[in-house]
Amino acid sequence: MPNAYQNFLSQLDRALAVVPKPVSLVATLQTPNRIIEHTLSIHKDNGAEQSLSAYRIQHNNWRGPYKGGIRFHPQVDLDEVKTLAALMTFKTAVAGIPMGGGKGGVTVDPKTLSAGERERLNRAWTNAFRADIGPTVDVPAPDVNTGSADMDVIAAEFGHPAVVTGKSITHGGSVGRDTATAQGGWYVFEALRSHLNLGPDPLTVVIQGFGNAGATFANIAHALGHKIIAVSDSSGAIHNSAGLDIPALHLYKTAHRSVQGFPGAENLTNSAMLELPCDLLIPAALESQITGENAPRIKAKVILELANGPVTTAADDILFAQNISVIPDILANSGGVTVSYFEWDQNMKSEHWSALEVDQKLRDHMNAAATAVQTIAVQHGTDLRRAAFIVALNRLQETESKQK
Ligand code: GLU
Repeated sequence: MPNAYQNFLSQLDRALAVVPKPVSLVATLQTPNRIIEHTLSIHKDNGAEQSLSAYRIQHNNWRGPYKGGIRFHPQVDLDEVKTLAALMTFKTAVAGIPMGGGKGGVTVDPKTLSAGERERLNRAWTNAFRADIGPTVDVPAPDVNTGSADMDVIAAEFGHPAVVTGKSITHGGSVGRDTATAQGGWYVFEALRSHLNLGPDPLTVVIQGFGNAGATFANIAHALGHKIIAVSDSSGAIHNSAGLDIPALHLYKTAHRSVQGFPGAENLTNSAMLELPCDLLIPAALESQITGENAPRIKAKVILELANGPVTTAADDILFAQNISVIPDILANSGGVTVSYFEWDQNMKSEHWSALEVDQKLRDHMNAAATAVQTIAVQHGTDLRRAAFIVALNRLQETESKQK
């Protein structure tokens, strides 16, 4: 399997084969502007010191300040953060917001950190990267295993609320940011639905990952009467072809810290779950989950990428040949960074928008983004991933030429 950054480069190449762009533009977008690495040292509660690798990659800022989350995960490495930063440049362009692309990470298992250790880690991260971030320079946000409490600490340590987004409401966060990734994904799906090969409601839905994006997507689809037939978390998966009781599953997960063992559902492996027949498969966990190896066994009709990079380019070709539509990450999960931009804008103008206003603006942005991608897909007779990259490339090219 290629590494994640090679996978990004091949996604870019495949779009460029449809709509070529100048060599200088391509060369810039193939390489991040800056790679910043630090080794953080934090005091453990037992008095020991722990050293942790920490990253911030600033990929591109033609359209605005670098923008993207900070991930805490044992698998975080330079290749992963570089890839996620590059995807942010294309995502913010597809979403049509005036932000660039960046990403941060710490190689750590957050389950091993006490609350105090985690707070010290966030303060250490802020101080290590203090000279490189800022409201008009680079604006981090939550990503896998980070959330509003982490962002609140970073904002306080840095000394300005607009340095990060995804804060709690009482610390300058926006209404609707916590549900934005999933809600935006749903709006994108609704905007594209008539073009997808799907029957009538209710739809059967399989969700990989029961973190913020996956669990919120389950709530939205369940509330609309669709059947969530399987979900997974890092411990494994559960399945019930009659549909899972999502509110009860939330209570179960809080009590047992895992979805496995949920009454009335059968346990299965994460990989078996991905291969269940369903209308909508939602990868909402980590990269490279659907590859050339398991793609031939995927039986979903549509895949909506709430995670970043869950489907490799080798899998894309196999899925396309099987008439399975993939709604790509840079479109499907762009609701999160879109409401992050709304939060930043409110902070910069000292405004507070209502839930209704945020939701309406999010829906408008997602409709516009989905329509732009669908139009290019039809115009060039290509898939939604290549089309989304082409939309982003066109917008990046416009911004680049204005800067000259
Ligand atoms: N981590 C999210 C993403 O991958 C959100 C980034 C942001 O809000 O800046 O899109």
